[in-house]
Amino acid sequence: MKRTLIVGNWKMHLNTQQASLLVHRLDKHIKAHRNIEVVLAPSTLVLQPLSLEIDRRKFRLSAQDAFYKDEGHYTGEVSFTMLRDLAHYCIVGHSSRRIYFNEGLEQVRDKVQAAVRNEIVPILCVGETKNDRAVGETKRVIHDQLTTALSNLTTEDINEVVIAYEPVWAISTFDGEIAKPDDMQKAIAYIRSVIKDLYGEAISQAVRVLYGGSVNDHDAKAYLSLEGCDGVLVGAASLNYLQFAGIVDAAYQLQSAEKDKDHES
Ligand code: PEP
Repeated sequence: MKRTLIVGNWKMHLNTQQASLLVHRLDKHIKAHRNIEVVLAPSTLVLQPLSLEIDRRKFRLSAQDAFYKDEGHYTGEVSFTMLRDLAHYCIVGHSSRRIYFNEGLEQVRDKVQAAVRNEIVPILCVGETKNDRAVGETKRVIHDQLTTALSNLTTEDINEVVIAYEPVWAISTFDGEIAKPDDMQKAIAYIRSVIKDLYGEAISQAVRVLYGGSVNDHDAKAYLSLEGCDGVLVGAASLNYLQFAGIVDAAYQLQSAEKDKDHES
């Protein structure tokens, strides 16, 4: 069984003190489960203090973004090299970055490569906008985002990548439409088919693919039960400790139900 991955993207919220309080509350409400990996993605500023506070049996840290050059005269930037011992993961190509900061396909590719080079697992976000969807471009957009982002990675490197399917129109920051789980399943299957064309069947099944877009504690189970869905990337709901703990709990309940089924058969 693959470990279910639950990632909380705190976006540009919470200073050090507020972050510390949230972690304290999460710690009380979330139990460590062997097959569930819970990842917190706070702002870069609070990664360092949180790294000293978190119970590493329960939580891992992710950065939300980093610069693709390892070192140099890039005033204000934080490189993957600087995050090496701090963050296990880094979100790359999030729709906020693509839309507000005009990050293009090549920039995302360079960041994925920089993450892998620095032994940080990139959580590569892909997904179409409302307009792409309206004009029937969903598959082309996902295809282009994936093939460019992964173009410099070897078969070995790809084992170290997580892909998050986040249709932009379903993210709370943008339109926040509720996505139908069946449609999301088709998109996840398409992502695996692109990976299969690039790296073969075994890798396409092994790579972890998450869903993200307005997931909360009520609908998490529906997304987590989708075939081929290995977890969720949660934004707004990850700032509410009860909701986030509820999502982890939903993952746990699903795994327990699966185990019971296995015992019966
Ligand atoms: C996100 O920020 O990646 C996200 C999925 O946000 P939300 O859950 O708020 O839609």
